[in-house]
Amino acid sequence: MSDILSLSLEDAAAKLKAREVSAVELAEAALAAAQAANPALNAFSAFDAERTLAMAKASDERLGKGQGGALEGVPLAIKDLFAVEGVETAASSNILKGFKPPYESTVTRKLWDEGAVFLAKTSMDEFAMGSSNETANTGPVTNPWRSRDSNAPLTPGGSSGGSAAAVAANLAFGATGTDTGGSIRQPAAFTGTVGAKGTYGRCSRWGVVAFASSLDHPGPIARTVKDAAILLGAMSGHDAKDSTSLPEKVPDFAAAVGRSVRGLRIGVPKEYRIDGMPAGIEKVWAQGVDWLKQAGCEIVDISLPHTKYALPAYYIIAPAEASSNLARYDGMRYGLRVDGEDLLSTYENTRAAGFGAEVRRRILIGTYVLSAGYYDAYYLRALKVRRRILQDFEAAFEKVDAVLTPSAPSAAFETGAKSDDPIAMYLNDVFTVTANLAGLPAISVPAGLDGRGLPLGLQVITRALDEETMFAAGAALEAASGFDARAEKWW
Ligand code: GLN
Repeated sequence: MSDILSLSLEDAAAKLKAREVSAVELAEAALAAAQAANPALNAFSAFDAERTLAMAKASDERLGKGQGGALEGVPLAIKDLFAVEGVETAASSNILKGFKPPYESTVTRKLWDEGAVFLAKTSMDEFAMGSSNETANTGPVTNPWRSRDSNAPLTPGGSSGGSAAAVAANLAFGATGTDTGGSIRQPAAFTGTVGAKGTYGRCSRWGVVAFASSLDHPGPIARTVKDAAILLGAMSGHDAKDSTSLPEKVPDFAAAVGRSVRGLRIGVPKEYRIDGMPAGIEKVWAQGVDWLKQAGCEIVDISLPHTKYALPAYYIIAPAEASSNLARYDGMRYGLRVDGEDLLSTYENTRAAGFGAEVRRRILIGTYVLSAGYYDAYYLRALKVRRRILQDFEAAFEKVDAVLTPSAPSAAFETGAKSDDPIAMYLNDVFTVTANLAGLPAISVPAGLDGRGLPLGLQVITRALDEETMFAAGAALEAASGFDARAEKWW
């Protein structure tokens, strides 16, 4: 049974449809594997086995009648940022500990409507603020990958690190993530999985705990580009409950996988060649350029001149929006309340006890850059930089159809290596934040291993609403790399 868990989502769905395996068998196998792995990997924050088995049983009934959706009977892991009705949804924070939403997020609703089965909630950096999955109230997540020369625990990246670890360790056929500055793509790169986000607004944010609303993109983490395309297709679509949801029709993303990339113009931005980038990453990037050239793409050197301002602008805009969004956690309506002598001290006590250090840092930075006197100097300027970044991409997309870059500036690092140095942690997002600031589709595809045997990812960014080219180019890289390495099981 454990072999079946290593199938792609696409193949598992086909076996379910052919009745070669039942949804209940698959759910039982996935639950057993996930629960057995959790003491070592700590990827999951909550299970609800009864719900999992009830959903699987209902899938079997539909399959038995020849009915069912595209994901019928497939167990999926859900990042703890998505509201799942009646299941603890805490954003890995003590301030929301025990909160069971009385509603379902639109994205998870869409997945269930296609027949997917809830496997478990996955742990994340608290409120999705981080790049290493070390700040969850349930403790750090460990990457299933280990370096060839050491058994030291590595981070799976973040903030969707629990989702990435679960998919990499064959505990789920796919998972949801959210990407505000790289939180799907960087953990995907660190775990040898595929992580994608669509155009801003493709996936509804309704029922997703808000971090920075103008940057938050839900999306999938999967083991193949095709699986990611299937999942993003199921998660996307207009939602009247999210005012920034795109009204556009959702194309068949999965149909773009395998489509010829001959004649595509691929931009290679010189600003993404940064000082101190490990040689392995340079190498895999050059290799990626070569693979696409061999597949018939035209390679074009491009410039995205404002790239160097992206990270500072992101770390103003994201905390500014977070400070506003997180003001709702006051101990009155949800989760934790620590009573004080009066209302104000109750607020203070609750927030002091409920928010971790990184979240407090973001709230303080956010309120600072929004305060009178600093607003123009910081927040407004960051918004102007954001416009420039978008214009850089618009100019580039006059000349090219897609942009190819590394996904992250390093491979997975050791747990604890950067936790005392916020700037070093923030630098992880240097290649990913631009696509959030500009709201563009972006994917990370595993492309090779570094000298220590750790996975490295390549990123493809495309025009707004052109996820199809992103998936076609991603699939071409996947096919050329032949990447099928998996973490050796030690958990
Ligand atoms: N690492 C980035 C941050 O800490 C991005 C997080 C995310 O995409 N949710 O803000």
